[in-house]
Amino acid sequence: MSNPRILLLGPPGAGKGTQSRNVVETYGVDHITTGDALRANKDVETDYGKPREYMDKGELVPDPVVNEIVVAALEDADGGFVLDGYPRNLSQAEFLDEHATIDVVPLLDVGREELIRRLTGRRVCPECGATYHVAFDPPETTDVCDECGSALIQRDDDTEETVRERLSVYEENTAPLIEFYEERGLLARVDGEGTPEEVWHDLRLTIEDALATGGQ
Ligand code: ADP
Ligand code: ADP
Ligand code: ZN
Repeated sequence: MSNPRILLLGPPGAGKGTQSRNVVETYGVDHITTGDALRANKDVETDYGKPREYMDKGELVPDPVVNEIVVAALEDADGGFVLDGYPRNLSQAEFLDEHATIDVVPLLDVGREELIRRLTGRRVCPECGATYHVAFDPPETTDVCDECGSALIQRDDDTEETVRERLSVYEENTAPLIEFYEERGLLARVDGEGTPEEVWHDLRLTIEDALATGGQ
């Protein structure tokens, strides 16, 4: 299959952004990530207020706002895509069903305590989007991006309190999608607790497997 359509599922901090970079490099697909798109437009007024009002509390931004972002991105993604951070509830999944075909839904499995460690130690580059971790994946120079030299920042929502809220929002709204994609025969569990390289090894095999047997 030349233009894979991959939906990467997993809780906040599971490594979706980190692994999406590998998927993009290997398959040349578009990275569609509602989180990045919303962060770039945090203070834009929508019919539902500013995205910031939801994001800084760890709540979901209303469906019409994110659905619109995704439809526009899908229209440009002729060469396949990796979806990261969308859908996050059943109504978004049903909306996506009407707008795209998905080949495989890898689920990155990571335990709660590890997610909290990963999110509270995450540092990101505001310029190029590279992601680091103070302990698990530090940049060469503290707080400086290896890729572009910019000063790294901590996301507003990567504080312990907001992280806990985001994990409950995931359990309540997003976890039901596991069953949704299982019923469609698309779900493939991947152990997300190893090193980034180990996870990528397993994820890549999962994708290759799914693409080789696709359409059966
Ligand atoms: P998500 O997009 O699912 O929220 P990220 O890819 O941003 O997750 O990863 C969350 C944090 O965990 C980042 O700081 C990242 O550097 C770190 N991280 C990602 N994958 C791993 C891994 N396999 N082991 C340890 N830390 C990881
Ligand atoms: P992570 O995967 O690390 O939790 P994201 O960058 O994907 O974080 O999302 C950050 C925030 O952006 C979410 O907590 C939520 O407020 C908002 N957001 C991102 N994607 C969606 C979505 N599909 N639906 C609703 N809100 C979203
Ligand atoms: Zn950078």
